[in-house]
Amino acid sequence: MRYISTRGSAPTLDFRDVTLAGLAKDGGLYLPESWPSFSAAQIAAMQGLSYVETAVAVMLPFVEGTLSEDDLRTLCTQAYGRFAHAAVVPLAQLDERNWLLELFYGPTLAFKDVALQLLGLLFERFLTGSTQQVTVVGATSGDTGSAAIDALAGRAGVDVFMLHPKGRVSDVQRRQMTTVIAPNIHNIALEDASFDDAQALVKAMFNDPAFSGKFALSAVNSINWARLMAQIVYYFYAAVRLGAPERPVAFSVPTGNFGDVFAGYVAAKMGLPVAKLIVATNVNDILHRALSAGDYSQGTVVPTPSPSMDIQVSSNFERLLFDLGGRDGHALADQMRGFETSKAMRLTNAQREGAAALFASDRIDLDDMALAMRWACEASGQVIDPHTAIGLAAARRADLPADVPIVTLATAHPAKFRDAVERATGQRPVLPARMGDLFEREERYASLPGTFEAVTAYIAERASAR
Ligand SMILES: *Cc1c(COP(=O)(O)O)cnc(C)c1O
Repeated sequence: MRYISTRGSAPTLDFRDVTLAGLAKDGGLYLPESWPSFSAAQIAAMQGLSYVETAVAVMLPFVEGTLSEDDLRTLCTQAYGRFAHAAVVPLAQLDERNWLLELFYGPTLAFKDVALQLLGLLFERFLTGSTQQVTVVGATSGDTGSAAIDALAGRAGVDVFMLHPKGRVSDVQRRQMTTVIAPNIHNIALEDASFDDAQALVKAMFNDPAFSGKFALSAVNSINWARLMAQIVYYFYAAVRLGAPERPVAFSVPTGNFGDVFAGYVAAKMGLPVAKLIVATNVNDILHRALSAGDYSQGTVVPTPSPSMDIQVSSNFERLLFDLGGRDGHALADQMRGFETSKAMRLTNAQREGAAALFASDRIDLDDMALAMRWACEASGQVIDPHTAIGLAAARRADLPADVPIVTLATAHPAKFRDAVERATGQRPVLPARMGDLFEREERYASLPGTFEAVTAYIAERASAR
């Protein structure tokens, strides 16, 4: 499989290089040259497969030419062996039609582990025995950072610099990052910054050829294709359990950077019968405005109890616009340059119509989020986190035929956001025993002003030039 950039003028790469690269040299994002596709019979054959075997079947076409089927199986067995549930990502039923897909049994309690545990092993495999060294620079609204740090701590050939907006992540999220004391892990708290500011700084570093070349920058946020690839798997796994390929299934996805829900789009492109993908946002609703009215214009980030969705620029939306716009890299590069200059753009008719065929969207405010948390408790005794609650609120309001099951992606363990959960439901979720001493561990991080100069100087002092 070869990978091409959404902006049409970067070299095509194989799976190994696309995994280590992150952003394309032309500022675009990598996508497979074409979508692999499964017949109904091939999807039916996934019934009864374990999570690991489903993962091997779904991902094999994407790694072709770089990894053998046995290699892929070994990596998946190791990555998903660390999950604290035998099903890896179990389904829980809420009422006749509403289901939760619980994606939070990994080491850091959010769905980011599903992709990053695999990505850490891919990095190790691709870098061990090579002289290549990389510097991972990432921005996090909380969950990517902890998942990436867990997956990469102590691994040879990789230095990690993780930027988070100071004071805008939960205490559990921060401690999961800052208490990992390893020589290759560097946490940076950006003063007076939002997640978008942090993400913009990271983009600027990638777009500075002198800096990004000198330190061989690499990305582990959801601009990295391998992460999205690993997330396609659970759409197949869940849908097959609920009756696919005979019965179409809808998914409601709490969305920030459009990575998780884009993986659902890819699953549909590969032949999975997806009735609808519901893009659920909090009050930071750029995606809801884009999908419902064609208006992709950047607002000001409002901090909410669902910080991993407090985003006003959704990096991966570019991948959808590219695919829906006939994969015309030069046209998309113009459209994105327009957005970068004016902070606003209109979707084209082709993009709007293409999106409307598969996507619905909704914006969930604080009251509706809290109501969904209470409803889940009352309906089935489930305590859910604020992000999941946004997905569930949108699922319950969605206009879909009554016989279509709706799977809400449960993206984080409620204990990760226990203050918000307690405020809404009166119940204080407890951290699973395996992280019981999180609040006793020593923290280590640097506080820096959110400027390009301050952050690049800090990295340059600590990363080895490559
Ligand atoms: C990252 C995250 C999201 C948003 O996922 P995207 O891929 O950025 O759309 C939602 N919920 C939780 C808990 C997250 O960590």
